[in-house]
Amino acid sequence: MSAKYVFVTGGVVSSLGKGLAAASIGCLLESRGLRVNLMKFDPYLNVDPGTMSPFQHGEVFVTDDGAETDLDLGHYERFTHAPLSRDNNYTTGRIYEQIILKERRGDYLGKTVQVIPHVTNEIKNAMRKVAANGADVTIVEIGGTVGDIESLPFLEAIRQMRQELGRENTTFVHLTLVPWIAAAQELKTKPTQHSVKELLSIGIQADVLLCRSERPLGREIKQKIAAFCNVEEKAVIGAKTVSSVYEVPLCFAQEGVDELILRYLHREAPEADLSKWKDLVERCYNPKDEVSIAIVGKYVEYEDSYKSLKEALAHGAISQNLKLKLTWIEAEGLESESAADQSYETQLEGFDGILVPGGFGKRGIEGMLNAIRYAREKQVPYFGICLGMQAACIEFARNVCGLKNANSSEFDPAAEHRVIYKLRELLGVEEMGGTMRLGAWTCILQGDTLASRAYGGATEISERHRHRYEFNREYEALMTGAGLRISGATPDQTYVEIVEIPGHPFFLGCQFHPEFKSRPLEPHPLFREFVAASYQHRKQRSAEQMKAARAAYQQVQ
Ligand code: GLN
Repeated sequence: MSAKYVFVTGGVVSSLGKGLAAASIGCLLESRGLRVNLMKFDPYLNVDPGTMSPFQHGEVFVTDDGAETDLDLGHYERFTHAPLSRDNNYTTGRIYEQIILKERRGDYLGKTVQVIPHVTNEIKNAMRKVAANGADVTIVEIGGTVGDIESLPFLEAIRQMRQELGRENTTFVHLTLVPWIAAAQELKTKPTQHSVKELLSIGIQADVLLCRSERPLGREIKQKIAAFCNVEEKAVIGAKTVSSVYEVPLCFAQEGVDELILRYLHREAPEADLSKWKDLVERCYNPKDEVSIAIVGKYVEYEDSYKSLKEALAHGAISQNLKLKLTWIEAEGLESESAADQSYETQLEGFDGILVPGGFGKRGIEGMLNAIRYAREKQVPYFGICLGMQAACIEFARNVCGLKNANSSEFDPAAEHRVIYKLRELLGVEEMGGTMRLGAWTCILQGDTLASRAYGGATEISERHRHRYEFNREYEALMTGAGLRISGATPDQTYVEIVEIPGHPFFLGCQFHPEFKSRPLEPHPLFREFVAASYQHRKQRSAEQMKAARAAYQQVQ
């Protein structure tokens, strides 16, 4: 059977949630027993998102093979079981890089190298490679908005794919906006019409329209859009805004998106089984209580820079029927004027758990250290991820082991006690470029630890990395002697992967990024346990408050 594709494009404006739409289609098709794969093309010239600012581009999502990818791949992994790697995310820059490499090597035998056919061929080859992985349906998301100069080669490539593979093997899904105009008290279809026309002008007739709208699309509006955009009325899908992203697949199912796509692709499939998703959304909307977590970090004003983290925490909360209340605290605002200044404490009071996420650079570090000290001393559950683990080690070295000048060589290369450092630095190896420890690494867990209990007694796990610095084992004896426990390390014992403090309700730092592997239906154990400990802390605190209030009342009596 020939490979089948769903191409997802976006019109009118950006940020309509194309990634989420593609992921939800994947989820629906998977729920009907099909194997799906997803990929994304980003029309910018950067070779990969690895070096792009999180402020501009949001989180860098890391796959098992260590590819630094667009955050939409995070949606793909959370909604489906598609096996993602560097093959599933291409930028214009990477496509051109490959072509220029070939040209320099003489592969084109002196021919003129052009956008058509060379760039478009390279794009089509990338799609075929992913489709060849055994998927029944490959969903291809084209970044950007139709009408952008940058996305033209990608659109031309998918137009050719339709030409080559036929209607029964390709479906064009277009995401548009149907705005509500208050002055007219009307939903307006014109932007959608223009966007569909723009696509048509480059040879692509949309098959399915996902219409984002603040209000439900009535029958008349759907008929109007269908008539003017040349699609079936059934193919005009109302994509209303929902409060949980995990409801999107259910909404699409209700609108018959899966049915439609399968019909267009001439593919039979069993009925959808969405019971687990329904149950998840049910729990999401009916929490029994809430849990409040403070995230102390650097890019907190731009939430997309911690997309997977936010989702992983939500998974942990939903799995325990809790509503997650997140507070983002800018780490710089927790820095103290002097050692005696503990005014930051008021900002940290009242949270059930504190988390310091990954990050790069020196800004805000001292504030993070204050937050960690607070959590450690006041027995508030603490979860440190990557930078948050490194900072926890620095805090422990300084305030428990008395190494006042402990630091990471990232923040102070000349620090007296480099408890966090680049391994190669000490070996005297000159670092070339941005060598990071990236992607999946195996970690061996020590028994009878918080980590091993969280992972259900597993002794070997695999987690994803994205960092340069490591725990310096020269300080291991001193720090473990003072009460720190190393509960996870690489099999050869070179790298420390997890540290924790026994006796504390929950104090754990991991060098990897567990958030990349958390799924709504399979919450990551560390997030699940951190949220559970935080909730426990909340209940204990309220019990203590109750007791104190009762005692005060009795005294008055
Ligand atoms: N900046 C630290 C390092 O490079 C931590 C990186 C991270 O948190 N992802 O090791």
